[in-house]
Amino acid sequence: MKNGKLERLAVIGSGTMGHGIAQVAAQTGMDVRMYDLSEEFLTRAMEKIRGNLKRRIDKGRMSTAESEEILGRIQPTIDLSESVTDADVVVEAIPERMELKIECFEAIDKHSPATALLATNTSSLSVTEIAAATGRPEQVVGLHFFNPVPAMKLLEIVRGLRCVDATVDKARAFAEQLGKEAIVVKDWPGFATSRLGIALGAEAIRMVEQGVSSPAEIDRAMELGYRHPMGPLRLTDLVGLDVRLAIMEHLHRELGEQFRPPALLRQMVRAGKTGRKSGEGFYRYD
Ligand code: NAD
Repeated sequence: MKNGKLERLAVIGSGTMGHGIAQVAAQTGMDVRMYDLSEEFLTRAMEKIRGNLKRRIDKGRMSTAESEEILGRIQPTIDLSESVTDADVVVEAIPERMELKIECFEAIDKHSPATALLATNTSSLSVTEIAAATGRPEQVVGLHFFNPVPAMKLLEIVRGLRCVDATVDKARAFAEQLGKEAIVVKDWPGFATSRLGIALGAEAIRMVEQGVSSPAEIDRAMELGYRHPMGPLRLTDLVGLDVRLAIMEHLHRELGEQFRPPALLRQMVRAGKTGRKSGEGFYRYD
């Protein structure tokens, strides 16, 4: 850390989210270490970043020299302790399973500097529980990025039960450095984004079930009437019906009846209609 600026980032997991976070941080001048389980995953992640930057070059938004500089600031590694050893910020973006996150945070806690900001990119798990895997839960925060990371403005900062103000301030400073707009929410199931997004999606599915209107018309209602860029059913197709069902089940368990998954959603998942990725959801994709 120099002049209050966070200089070194470690990203744990280089998948959909991890490589995007690494790219954005490197674009804003941070030195990034990107960790994953194998060289193969890391090579794939670097190729994706190179591809993203290439699109920017093609659009005239970046020079080749700039792109090379950015790529040069990202150091891939399969050594977790090395990746976090001098980090100002550590962002974990490994699969959404509590037992993996806990194991990962135990290792991060062991090897990262005592002053580092530790963050998880979980979209639904308890940040408080993840923080408790470390000996410094007051320094752990949820940093919920959105996909694709370079394009999405929002960063949802999630404050666990033991998180202190200084940690939230540091997380805000990090968001600002990355050019993101931050909101701060308490660690409560669904945070702000998933809870509202899922509520709207579930209600739209119940409306299809009740024959209120067609998926296309329900979506158009929100797109034209409320200026949503994409209606709730098309968005459900994009995210995956199975993914949304899993989140609804979690919120139903945690928050109660209002999140009970609609029967139609369960039926569609059972039939393999999981949305865009399977070729069919509320719409068909040929
Ligand atoms: P992903 O499966 O694309 O990537 C996960 C990466 O972590 C993989 O490269 C994998 O090899 C690696 N990994 C697996 N186990 C690991 C371990 N033990 N240690 C280190 N690396 C490991 O997943 P993703 O979509 O990038 O999601 C990562 C996290 O971000 C999840 O918590 C998810 O809920 C959250 N998230 C995802 C999205 C999204 O739209 N994909 C949006 C917001 C938040």
